[in-house]
Amino acid sequence: MGSHYDVVVVGAGFAGLYAVHKMRDELGLDVQAFEAAGGVGGTWWWNRYPGARCDFESIHYSYSFSEEIQREWEWSERFAGQPEILAYLEWVADKLDVRRAFRFNTRVTSTTWDDKAARWIICTDDGATCTARFVVSCVGGLSVAKEPEFPGSETFRGELYRTSSWPHEPVDLTGKRVAVIGTGSTGIQVIQEIANEAAELTVFQRTPNFAAPLGNEPVDLAQRRWNAEHHAELRAGSRQHMIGVPYDPPSGPALAATPDERRRIFDKYWDRGGFRLLVSTFSDVIFNQQANETIAEYIRERIRERVKDPATAALLCPTDHPYASKRPPFETGYYEAYNLPHVHLVDVRSAPIEAITPTGVRTSSKSYEFDVIILATGFDVFTRPLLNLGLRGRDGLKLEDRWANGPTSYLGVQIAGFPNLFVINGPKSAVALYNVPLATEDNVNFVAAALARAIADKTATFEATYEAEEAWGRLCEGILNLTVIPHSKGSWYMGENIPGKARAAYFFAGGAPLYRAICAEVAHVGYGGFALDRVSAPIPPMVRLDPAAALLLGSMLARGMKPLDELNLDEVRAVAESLRELQLPGPAMRVETVEAPRARIYIPDRAGPLPVIVFYHGGGWISGSLDLADAPCRRLADENGAMVVSAHYRLAPEHSFPAATDDTFAALSWVWKHVSAYGGDPGRIVIMGESAGANLAAVAAIRARDAGIPLAGQVLIYPPIDPEASTASRTEFADGPFFTRAIGEKMWGAYLGGAELTELAAPSRASSLAGLAPALVLTLELDMSRDEAEDYAGALASAGVPVRLHRFDGLFHGVFNMSAFIPRVREMYASIGEFVATCKEQITEVA
Ligand code: FAD
Ligand code: NAP
Repeated sequence: MGSHYDVVVVGAGFAGLYAVHKMRDELGLDVQAFEAAGGVGGTWWWNRYPGARCDFESIHYSYSFSEEIQREWEWSERFAGQPEILAYLEWVADKLDVRRAFRFNTRVTSTTWDDKAARWIICTDDGATCTARFVVSCVGGLSVAKEPEFPGSETFRGELYRTSSWPHEPVDLTGKRVAVIGTGSTGIQVIQEIANEAAELTVFQRTPNFAAPLGNEPVDLAQRRWNAEHHAELRAGSRQHMIGVPYDPPSGPALAATPDERRRIFDKYWDRGGFRLLVSTFSDVIFNQQANETIAEYIRERIRERVKDPATAALLCPTDHPYASKRPPFETGYYEAYNLPHVHLVDVRSAPIEAITPTGVRTSSKSYEFDVIILATGFDVFTRPLLNLGLRGRDGLKLEDRWANGPTSYLGVQIAGFPNLFVINGPKSAVALYNVPLATEDNVNFVAAALARAIADKTATFEATYEAEEAWGRLCEGILNLTVIPHSKGSWYMGENIPGKARAAYFFAGGAPLYRAICAEVAHVGYGGFALDRVSAPIPPMVRLDPAAALLLGSMLARGMKPLDELNLDEVRAVAESLRELQLPGPAMRVETVEAPRARIYIPDRAGPLPVIVFYHGGGWISGSLDLADAPCRRLADENGAMVVSAHYRLAPEHSFPAATDDTFAALSWVWKHVSAYGGDPGRIVIMGESAGANLAAVAAIRARDAGIPLAGQVLIYPPIDPEASTASRTEFADGPFFTRAIGEKMWGAYLGGAELTELAAPSRASSLAGLAPALVLTLELDMSRDEAEDYAGALASAGVPVRLHRFDGLFHGVFNMSAFIPRVREMYASIGEFVATCKEQITEVA
């Protein structure tokens, strides 16, 4: 066995260079690195085809970890070409002096875990073997070309090139008959670049793509320097943006805009170039097929404007998949190339390629002759580069077997069963939709911190648990299913570009801010979801989020949401009111306003007398309003055929305890006495509240019992019960998601205003709960008040009160007001509907 190292790094692209620097120079570890290529650069070493360039601006598509690197390097184009990106990575490698850590032209062929010694045995294609405590894979997602599906490449007598292993010496295409197979990002770049060079260019297109303008341009000398000097300003907020580039946020939903507004916004970002067309236009294009069709049709219109021959234009217009369900390509003069008389488009959907022949290409309908064939047919993305490492984990577990049904990982950085193997930009990481250099830095920093921890604690094995991997897989898949991406056909996004490859969620589509927040939480709680020396830490709350709740949280983070406990009173109130934007609109109906006590009465158009719901809004006793409760109350009225009285109460800290409980009880008393005048049935009152409103409802139910006001039921939607409750959920969800223990304590403090804690604030302290109205208690898995609410439900049941308890997994405190974005809030309404129906029945039976 050869030498032993602390860390073996594989790959010398953006990831490998930074990983070596971080592990060797910052952690002081003994690092050996391997690279199959003859030099550094990864993607940019291999993909030297004409026209290769990046499609995030170079000032963004570059490292951010070093002030010096950012200040010293100047980009000559807005979107640099491959030679310049390669030169940059070579310059960085020299600056960091990382080349000497690498053995180039050396491919890792097998990587085997030695459980006894707790280390990896790494074999390379030069016959050497070494061992390492940790392996950090930086093999890239797009580093193994797809195998051609048609036979005969070896028989071709002309020149055959693959874009991903393009020769280093110039290829002269002048005067030649050239074929390009493939119209993905690569094919499009090649085609537009060589259209004027080749004598005849024939493009074999199976699926047309939605290409939008890149907007590249040279950057003059003065601007280059300015950009380098002002890199911090230019990149500010990048990591807060969904895709890691500080583009404008979208203008709200496309479906809410008029056709003219949509056109104006699409035009604006079409002209600005690159990914802006996707991320800066409308918020729903990636989530809603109908909204997506508005942008798809816009692009098709633009294609038809640019391509003169209508038949060719029609062939170039995609109609079988939503925009951005495949990775969007960008172009410069691509469509105009088809107006050249020597450029021909061949549809190989209707007549597939059967073979490469000695003289050219044969499709099912015709043979074509060429001097040069260029294969731009894509990559076996994410999984193949890792599978090629010949990985065998614990007990000889083969990665192939582990991944038979598609890739699994935890956060994209570890695979259960493969201890001490860390993956940068792996499957199910955020990298596919996150500007790669920044995504890479995030991953490397996370891994470096994990290694530092393992080393400091003398931890022999650091590995993801199977449970964490499953939870992460569910989140990735759930989020992806909320987007249009699964409606793509044949995309590498879903593994479908490779025959026989498992269709699965290959990446995390929740965006950079959410991914970063999750990784931060995982580290903060002591590497939750990982097992250190086989002792596993619990999976952190954010990994257990409902996918829609996760996406919503991600978009709040992207909008710079601060933790609630860091906000002042006005800001908390503003946040509470802003939740209205997250609610599904309520149906139109008759609404009466009452001044004393202040209330709104929602009266659905049904034959009366109507059952009555008395509703108290949430907001921690310090915020919230009748407006916040408006849409939910309309919906409750409509769905339950009930009159809903939404009751105002005074807010703390201006009016502390017992103002709110007195107001809510006064409102209930008023309803009991007066609701019949509005068509309500005072014998069928269900009291209901959300959050702090649920606390008030629970207390009002006790006061009603004591005052002899009959109630048909009480619905407590995630009620806080007792500020002094000492429960597991209080500790586990102290940092959220969304609602934190600190804000909870502030709210209780403001409400109580120093008053002694009695049953009028903490209903569980009532001397008896017997004889209370039947209760429905809705709780949320990821809510710090969950356990106290469930304990209260238990106490009610013990006191003989009929109780239904319904816990909703994956949801956090406050979601009742987020119905437009979290579809599962419907289940809460359904649960309420069932309960209210039984309350109605019970009373009817008694009557
Ligand atoms: P890579 O750059 O792929 O490096 C991995 C390295 O690992 C390779 O050099 C490979 O030879 C080596 N390797 C793999 N297996 C082994 C082994 N078994 N033994 C030894 N060495 C091995 N992303 C963007 O965000 N924006 C863009 O504009 C963009 N443009 C792109 C353009 C092209 C043409 C392509 C193909 C990809 C583009 N990407 C873009 C994605 C691109 O892959 C990443 O941005 C980034 O370069 C990946 O860096 P990496 O270090 O993770 O992997
Ligand atoms: P790709 O997007 O997977 O495109 C491959 C193309 O080859 C598709 O048009 C595909 O058609 C076609 N193809 C594959 N097999 C075929 C067959 N048997 N017969 C006919 N056509 C076939 O691959 P890519 O263009 O190399 O791009 C891969 C990724 O690399 C991109 O998505 C992007 O992430 C990155 N990239 C980025 C840039 C950039 O601008 N920065 C440039 C290049 C690459 P179907 O669609 O019908 O399968």
